[in-house]
Amino acid sequence: MPNMKQVFFFLVLIALPGAILCALLYSAGRYLYSLYEDRRELKQLDAIAAESAARRQQRRQEDVKRLENGCQHTFDTGLGFPPGVCPKCGLAKEKPAGDCDHVWRRVEASTPACSCALCGKTYRTEL
Ligand SMILES: [Zn+2]
Ligand SMILES: [Zn+2]
Repeated sequence: MPNMKQVFFFLVLIALPGAILCALLYSAGRYLYSLYEDRRELKQLDAIAAESAARRQQRRQEDVKRLENGCQHTFDTGLGFPPGVCPKCGLAKEKPAGDCDHVWRRVEASTPACSCALCGKTYRTEL
């Protein structure tokens, strides 16, 4: 029959490595989980980046198609036209924000001015 001291010693001998093992497993598990989380976050960031790149690419293609109207554009040269607008065809180099893709036409006025053929918006050069 083992006495209490021996039992206690034996329990400590088992419990201590057990506790250390548990702690190791726990921290290893947490480390692996954080790796997994990082990977997932990176993947999500990648997906977002790829999506926005695809959208940008599509917008660029749309912009190119938008400007393919047979006009040899000369942007930024039209007096009375908004900046970045081709005076020959009236299209802006960049699609303007808003509903109307303005097509600017020169209007007769005392100061150089133009208006949009689609929505009627007018633009006047501030002199
Ligand atoms: Zn043009
Ligand atoms: Zn317009």
